[in-house]
Amino acid sequence: MTALDSSLRLFIADQARMAAFGEILASLLEPGDVIGLCGDLGAGKTFLSGAIAHGLGVPQEVPITSPTFVLIHEHTDGRLPVYHMDLYRLGDPSELYELGLWEYYDGAGVCLVEWCDRFEDLWPQRALVIAIGLGKDEERFLELSGAQRGAALCQALAQAHPELILST
Ligand code: ADP
Ligand code: MG
Repeated sequence: MTALDSSLRLFIADQARMAAFGEILASLLEPGDVIGLCGDLGAGKTFLSGAIAHGLGVPQEVPITSPTFVLIHEHTDGRLPVYHMDLYRLGDPSELYELGLWEYYDGAGVCLVEWCDRFEDLWPQRALVIAIGLGKDEERFLELSGAQRGAALCQALAQAHPELILST
């Protein structure tokens, strides 16, 4: 961490609050934002991606499912294009290049990237990373971290919603 990095730890009591958090985050997003999601299977990466996508205006009736096999789902019917990706099945970095990941990262939409902790070295520095940890039942702990734009998003969330914060 440098002085320019930020991190936040948030407590999410249940699915409804996770959905609300996704909507809050969506309201802050701009073209070119990259959000990484990591955490064990079943942590809620796809659930939170859905909440963010719906918060960006992808219609509620469009289900946001895991792009594990197709690697990228594009949703173009919201306020900004949403590129929802899953790096879980990628075998080696050359496949990232084949997928043209950087065109998405540098595009005019918002990238939501599950399993972003794979290929960490190739991860854009400006991204906001959200690590989801499990508590009991529906409880989740979110660790947000980022530099540059990712840090700005952490700070904006902290200012707008101090009630969510466990620690900074
Ligand atoms: P992942 O993509 O991390 O493997 P999913 O989002 O597919 O996980 O699945 C998470 C599951 O956990 C969903 O069935 C969801 O309904 C459930 N769940 C329970 N509580 C929460 C919560 N607070 N936030 C997100 N998902 C939750
Ligand atoms: Mg998933």
